[in-house]
Amino acid sequence: MENCPYCRKTNDFEFKIFSRIFHRCRECDLIHKSSQENYHEVLTTYSRGSYFNIYSCDQTDKKRDKLYDHILNSIEENKGTGSLLDVGTGCGFFLGAAKKRGWSVKGIEPSKQSAEVACRQNNLDVFCGTLQDYHGDDQFDVITFINVLDHSAEPWKEIELANNLLKPDGILYLRFPNGFLHTHLFQLASKFGLTYRIQKFLVFHQFSFTPKFIKRLLSDAGYSDIIILNSPPSEGDPHNLFPAPALAQYVKRAIYWTARAIQILTSGRVLLGTSLEVMAIKN
Ligand SMILES: [Zn+2]
Repeated sequence: MENCPYCRKTNDFEFKIFSRIFHRCRECDLIHKSSQENYHEVLTTYSRGSYFNIYSCDQTDKKRDKLYDHILNSIEENKGTGSLLDVGTGCGFFLGAAKKRGWSVKGIEPSKQSAEVACRQNNLDVFCGTLQDYHGDDQFDVITFINVLDHSAEPWKEIELANNLLKPDGILYLRFPNGFLHTHLFQLASKFGLTYRIQKFLVFHQFSFTPKFIKRLLSDAGYSDIIILNSPPSEGDPHNLFPAPALAQYVKRAIYWTARAIQILTSGRVLLGTSLEVMAIKN
């Protein structure tokens, strides 16, 4: 039994995913790695360049272009264009797409190599460091965290820091793996002894977010109009999970459209996509 790092309640339960111990808080529904694993170590590994080595292909092979268009379309439907801060910019391809559409953009990226690619190749204004290191007094219409927040040591602090940089009525956009789906798939597979078959498809980082936890986190931080939806998948198969890229595309799209149908039939109460996206308005 451990204290939940967010709500501090001790009312959690423990489960093992392969060799890693996770806890799920019964109060706020946060799923988090056991504190026996060092948060700081994980973050320094990322900023020292392992992140670039592991994920640079994913960022540079244009497999996310359609996803970035979808994100920008969704934001622009609500807000038009304006100023945008992207936290965890990577090599800057999302920001580059935003800039082409007329957004005034800024990035924050802890990996030196990724920040250099973003500045040099994509001609972007990127601060190399974390959100905690950034002390600019500028304010933004939109702040995005695309597949970033679940890697963070303290996501609630990142949200608090972002809050200070977001204009009133500004939009916060988040994308992350669906903790509800991945946890339940793992538990279901465990019951039937099939975890070895699905383990490569499951995603668990430092934290795993469910819709319930995200609603609680953003409500506590003073956000309203919190909309949580299934997110479209990225294109292709950057981590070679399938025997052929075309098969990956077919399976990912089939899962997404099935999840969308369930989302519509249940008025958004059941979200079974592999990733979720969230938009919320700052009060
Ligand atoms: Zn909790």
